[in-house]
Amino acid sequence: MITQSEIHGARSLCRKWRGQGYRIGLVPTMGFFHAGHLALMQRARELADRVVVSLFVNPAQFGPNEDLARYPRDREGDLDKAAAAGVDLVFCPEAEEMYSTTHQTRVSVSSLSREFCGKDRPGHFQGVTTVVTKLFNIIQPDYAVFGEKDYQQLAIVRQMAEDLNFPVTIVGHPIVREPDGLAMSSRNAYLEEAERQAATVLYQAFCSIREAIETNRNPAVLQEALAQARARIAAEPLAELDYLELVDPVSLEREVEPRVHSRLLGAVKIGGKTRIIDNLAL
Ligand code: AMP
Repeated sequence: MITQSEIHGARSLCRKWRGQGYRIGLVPTMGFFHAGHLALMQRARELADRVVVSLFVNPAQFGPNEDLARYPRDREGDLDKAAAAGVDLVFCPEAEEMYSTTHQTRVSVSSLSREFCGKDRPGHFQGVTTVVTKLFNIIQPDYAVFGEKDYQQLAIVRQMAEDLNFPVTIVGHPIVREPDGLAMSSRNAYLEEAERQAATVLYQAFCSIREAIETNRNPAVLQEALAQARARIAAEPLAELDYLELVDPVSLEREVEPRVHSRLLGAVKIGGKTRIIDNLAL
């Protein structure tokens, strides 16, 4: 496995691979790898001849009062895990390499970025789409694999790739969960024991809604199930609900009536500081 922290080095290696007829799969990450990240690398391995993982804690997607400085990092452990997962190149630039002092361009996807996490984290998705654009231009992958864990992000990246005609196939990968249902996340490392227990409340709320509307897909049942699920989260002392909605899987518009592919989206703050997000298909 090769590690490369410079743009021109990563670009010339990928150019060489393309010249040899290899298809390239990219997995963009912020590191601190868990089984969710490794599943994405595995998927890229199946799709492409060469797998590139970017490891970059992107300052542009963190707000001024967010956790950029304390975001968990484990570069050596990540490199070992990536090598064991059969990754060919880890692109791990410093912030100065990605954003020169003269950098001034931003990429944003308007409607899809507005609601849900976009509301609570202004500028977050613009930071994501800007860095993903840069990664697409540096690596020029045939496939880019993203987790459904960040469902709004995946929808935004799909929209951006279509709108801007990026010659890349965006691949979504299902959420990898802990045995008790909590979606794996690098930020779960922030949770203390009682918080870790409380954090399952969001997934449990999703499951209760899915169960309630499984047999009776009508608007009144949906509203009642959403209200009960929100009350269940409100009753958990360590959890504070940000949003919980049923949406169309592509437009992310709120659904009045549940449909087969509708998606439950939610975010909860645990212990006042750790924000967890999750989603579930009906
Ligand atoms: P991050 O390092 O948190 O920016 O995540 C990098 C990629 O891994 C994103 O596409 C995430 O959606 C994906 N990812 C994170 N956690 C999971 C998970 N539990 N299951 C599947 N994909 C995940």
